[in-house]
Amino acid sequence: MSRKVMLITGGSRGIGAATAQLAATRGYAVCISYLRNRDAADEVVRAIENSGGEAIATQADVSSQDDVIRLFESVDQTLGSITALVNNAGILEHHMRVEEMDAGRLNRIFATNVTGSFLCAREAVRRMSTARGGNGGAIVNVSSVAARLGSPNEYVDYAASKAAIDAMTIGLAKEVATEGIRVNAVRPGVIYTEIHASGGEPGRVDRVKDAVPMKRGGDAVEVANAILWLLSDQASYTTGACIDVAGGR
Ligand code: NDP
Repeated sequence: MSRKVMLITGGSRGIGAATAQLAATRGYAVCISYLRNRDAADEVVRAIENSGGEAIATQADVSSQDDVIRLFESVDQTLGSITALVNNAGILEHHMRVEEMDAGRLNRIFATNVTGSFLCAREAVRRMSTARGGNGGAIVNVSSVAARLGSPNEYVDYAASKAAIDAMTIGLAKEVATEGIRVNAVRPGVIYTEIHASGGEPGRVDRVKDAVPMKRGGDAVEVANAILWLLSDQASYTTGACIDVAGGR
C-alpha cells in the first residue's frame, strides 16, 4: 500500500488537532502546522507518537506565500509526497455589526481564511496533479455553515470568507477533476473549540445551541470524522461537495 501523508493547517488545537489524531489512527503520517502555539502543537505530536503514529509540527503563517512554500518543502523533505491536505487554519474576530468593522479586520480574516487556503491548495495541486507527474490526492477545505447562513450581527466578514472557500472548493474541484485530485469542503456548525474565545464570546456555543435542531454543539472529532471520510477512497466519486456537519442547522 502506498504511503499516506497528510498536512493539516492549524493542527495545534480544536478541529485541526482532532483531525490529526484521527488521521494518525488511520495510518497517515501527519504534519500539523501552527501559528503561535508551539507547545500545543508539540503536545499533539507527542500524543500521536505515543500511540505509535508518525507526526511533525511546523510553524507557518498560512497567509504568507513564503511560509506556505517552506511548509510544503518541510513536508516533502520530512514525510515524503503529500497525499492529503486539510485547509483548516481559520480565524474570526470579536462579534460586531457591520458599521463597526474596518478594512483592516476584513483583510486579516480574508488573508488567513481565503488566501491561506488558496496558497496551500496551490502547493498541493502542484505536487498531486497527475498532469504534472504527481500521484493524485485529496483536499478538504474547512468552511462553515456561516457561508450559507451569513452570520448577521456578528461575523458577516467571516461568513463572506467562508463563502469564498465554498466557491474555491467547487471551482478547483472541476479544474483538477481529471488530474487525480478531489476537492471538497466541510461546513461545521457550532463546535466546542477555543475559536469562540478568540471571537470574544466564550459562551457562544451555549447561546446558539437552541438554534441547532439537535440542540447541542458539536465535538471537534465529529467534524474530523467527516473530513477523514471525504479524504478516503470511500468518497472516490465525491468532489466539489460542501457538506454540513452542523446538527441539522
Ligand atoms: P481554533 O481557534 O481552535 O484553532 C485555530 C487553528 O488555526 C490553530 O491551530 C491556530 O494556530 C491556527 N491558525 C490561526 N491563524 C493561522 C495562520 N494565519 N496561519 C496558520 N495557522 C493559523 O479553531 P477551530 O478548531 O474552532 O476552527 C478550525 C476551523 O474550523 C477554522 O477554519 C474555523 O473557521 C472552522 N470552523 C469552526 C467552527 C467552530 O464552531 N469551532 C464552526 C465553523 C467553522 P495557533 O494555535 O498556533 O494559534
